[in-house]
Amino acid sequence: MSPKVGLIYSDEYLKHDTGDHPENSKRLEAILSFLKGKNILEDLTFINPRKADLKEIEYLHNPSYIQEVREICQRGGGFLDPDTPVSKDSFEVALLAAGGVFSAIDRVVDDLDSAFCLIRPPGHHALKEKGMGFCVFNNIALGARYAQNKHRLKKVLIIDWDVHHGNGTQEVFYRDPSVLYFSLHRYPHYPGTGDIEEIGEGEGKGYTVNVPLPPGCGNSDYIYIFKELLSPIANEFKPDITLISAGFDAHQDDPLGGMGLTSQEYGALTSLVKEFSKGIVSCLEGGYNLKALRESVLAHLDSLASRPEGTRGPRGRELNLFPKERIGEKPNNRVREIVKKIKEIHSKYWNFG
Ligand SMILES: [Zn+2]
Repeated sequence: MSPKVGLIYSDEYLKHDTGDHPENSKRLEAILSFLKGKNILEDLTFINPRKADLKEIEYLHNPSYIQEVREICQRGGGFLDPDTPVSKDSFEVALLAAGGVFSAIDRVVDDLDSAFCLIRPPGHHALKEKGMGFCVFNNIALGARYAQNKHRLKKVLIIDWDVHHGNGTQEVFYRDPSVLYFSLHRYPHYPGTGDIEEIGEGEGKGYTVNVPLPPGCGNSDYIYIFKELLSPIANEFKPDITLISAGFDAHQDDPLGGMGLTSQEYGALTSLVKEFSKGIVSCLEGGYNLKALRESVLAHLDSLASRPEGTRGPRGRELNLFPKERIGEKPNNRVREIVKKIKEIHSKYWNFG
């Protein structure tokens, strides 16, 4: 049997109106119509998202910040920071984005192997008291708390492969050993955090792993990092659930990223994550070239839906998988050096064999 994969989506997500901002509703429309055209929706379990209630948003956001967002939207919209516009419906849509992650977690705990949340606004830059970087509420961090509070899952792994560092997610769990945050990102780059020496504090030391990368890193670099760092750490951590901040702006054609991944690579990375995960919930973050975005999402979903040995998905559909023979290609020397340094810093906390 092929793995069972859920898709969280609602047309309500289109109502977060950002005008001609790079993070706009055309992103979801482009992905959805592409998946429809490829006949992949029939292979997925469609899940209607629910709205998060305010108490759930307060798992990590300050009530005064939540109220501030609500009031700005009630006045017809405005800006949470110069990069982050909201419209009159954005508050309710943001509740539905976080709630979509909760709905996905419910189903993955219950009966699915994985689920992809096709949601917006994105979340990983949102701080406890401040929206920024196109993000309103931190969907993935809220999802981690929900998995712990509602389903009593103890250990949550968050993998953030968006090209930008998830400063909001890091902030929430910086002193918390129950949530391991692993991020690959361009550095230095927006939002400025994510240095190699940021490893957590107090009991959380070693549970934040930052892999800051120079621009131009590509397929072989990411696979090398996953195999050398992420896999050993995850195998030792043994997460009860894996959440992915799935931004697709490290794609070679992305206008904001400056990295070199191909669409198929996102499938290869997904396959590596499946090896150590009990259940996976991934959430859309960035990704601003519509063609690159929709193809990358398809590769991600195809990988979630395929058996490890398989080249075919449900109903015998041929999958566009990353060529196996390219998996062992050599990384660039700077990446080797970065990985070596991370192993030195984190060898106190993790066994790299
Ligand atoms: Zn991003």
